[in-house]
Amino acid sequence: MSDFDLIVLGGGSGGLAGAFRAASHGARVALLEPHLLGGTCVNVGCVPKKAMWLAAELAGKLAMAPQLGFATQPGALDWPAFIAHRTRYIENIHASYRRRLDAAGIATLPVHGRFLDARTIACSDGVRLRAPHVLVATGGRPQRPDIPGAEFGGVSDDFFRMCAAPARVAIVGAGYIAVELAGLLQALGSQVELFVRGSRLLKDFDAELCDVLAEDYRQSGVHVHFGYQHGGLERDGKRLVLRNAVGDAAVPFDAVLFATGRRPNTDAIGLEEAGIDTDERGHIDVDAWQATNVEGVYAVGDVTGRLPLTPVAIAAARRLMDRLFGGHADAKLDYEGVATVVFSHPPLATVGLTEAQARARHGADVHVVRTQFRPMLYALADVPQRSLFKLVCVGAERRVAGIHLLGEGADEMLQGFAVALKRGITLDDLHDTVAIHPTSAEEVVLMR
Ligand SMILES: Cc1cc2nc3c(=O)[nH]c(=O)nc-3n(C[C@H](O)[C@H](O)[C@H](O)COP(=O)(O)OP(=O)(O)OC[C@H]3O[C@@H](n4cnc5c(N)ncnc54)[C@H](O)[C@@H]3O)c2cc1C
Repeated sequence: MSDFDLIVLGGGSGGLAGAFRAASHGARVALLEPHLLGGTCVNVGCVPKKAMWLAAELAGKLAMAPQLGFATQPGALDWPAFIAHRTRYIENIHASYRRRLDAAGIATLPVHGRFLDARTIACSDGVRLRAPHVLVATGGRPQRPDIPGAEFGGVSDDFFRMCAAPARVAIVGAGYIAVELAGLLQALGSQVELFVRGSRLLKDFDAELCDVLAEDYRQSGVHVHFGYQHGGLERDGKRLVLRNAVGDAAVPFDAVLFATGRRPNTDAIGLEEAGIDTDERGHIDVDAWQATNVEGVYAVGDVTGRLPLTPVAIAAARRLMDRLFGGHADAKLDYEGVATVVFSHPPLATVGLTEAQARARHGADVHVVRTQFRPMLYALADVPQRSLFKLVCVGAERRVAGIHLLGEGADEMLQGFAVALKRGITLDDLHDTVAIHPTSAEEVVLMR
């Protein structure tokens, strides 16, 4: 006997999308979410991060305004006031999810789920549920590094609990979360130091743009330390002392934030009982159809370790449900050519192959065009920051295989060009497109 057609573990980006799509096809769905609806993205990820980034962007523009003839010099951001706006925005999302879940007839249970076997889930309130299909969308959580005193530092979840900008803050890491937190805290008034183990930021992004971004950060006052080997973290009264591997200490910080990776939420969900395979880091192994090695059990989103982004989790879940309940036997997500943005200052938007990846795959058959320019507002205000745009083309026909945009407005510019890249456009197609003037986006079709 089955209680439902589908049980979903996790009410984050992937779980909600899967539950809604399955219900729209007529499936009887139970969704288990012990914490806040919306998961990481809505509560401690994309949404509150973007809110803080928007505040930081505004701070940058306000600082520029007097140079353009505006009379007033703005004060610092009133964090509690801004956080009240952020909280209201997020609460509206929760309310909208609750309404939509009720309207879709999805049984939403505020509990943890754990496999007893591949068809049976034990809820943390003692109830047992059975279904022929189970979707695991339990996401992940931040991970501190394995160094003495790491517990004194915070992680990205702790950043979203802050009610004021710390005067001096150390951020440890080089991925997009580290880069985003560093940029926005510096723009909101903190003195930021970024500690990076390797020799560059954002290892999966185009190296040339990342080097320029590191220089932009330095220009804006962030101290970027490459090749930093961590020794440990100590308390010194209210402040924190970060030591390197040979014991040297930096000037004490008011806050230290670790952005040193995330681990999947798979350690307490009974995967062994159901016989579900994971990789060595605990991510659930899935095939191209989001199926695990156990029939009827699927996984999407961060718990699979594949492109941990909200729209990817959503797209994978929707296609899976279209396949299981909607009669679309071939529906599956193409993980190639997914566009993404780092909300740095300025933002970095990217889709497709980096120059290094293109050269590794296509050898000498790679043609790169780039342009560097000052966006009009910065030129007017005589601010030195420049944008760097780059196209990576391959083959004799110069098919556009990568688009990399660093600069003001890049975050809003890339989506349309990502469609074009997916459709296989060439450099000639871009040149054949009449520009929109005067914009930064026109540089993409004018680059030679
Ligand atoms: C600081 C930060 C910024 C980010 N910014 C962006 C961005 O700008 N753009 C972007 O695309 N992505 C961003 N991401 C990534 C994005 O948030 C994730 O890729 C996305 O949330 C993954 O969705 P998910 O459904 O896999 O997992 P989650 O959203 O993490 O949801 C998992 C849910 O499962 C629940 N759960 C856990 N265990 C159980 C259980 N046993 N039973 C039932 N429920 C359970 C959890 O409570 C959680 O709500 C960011 C992430 C972080 C941390």
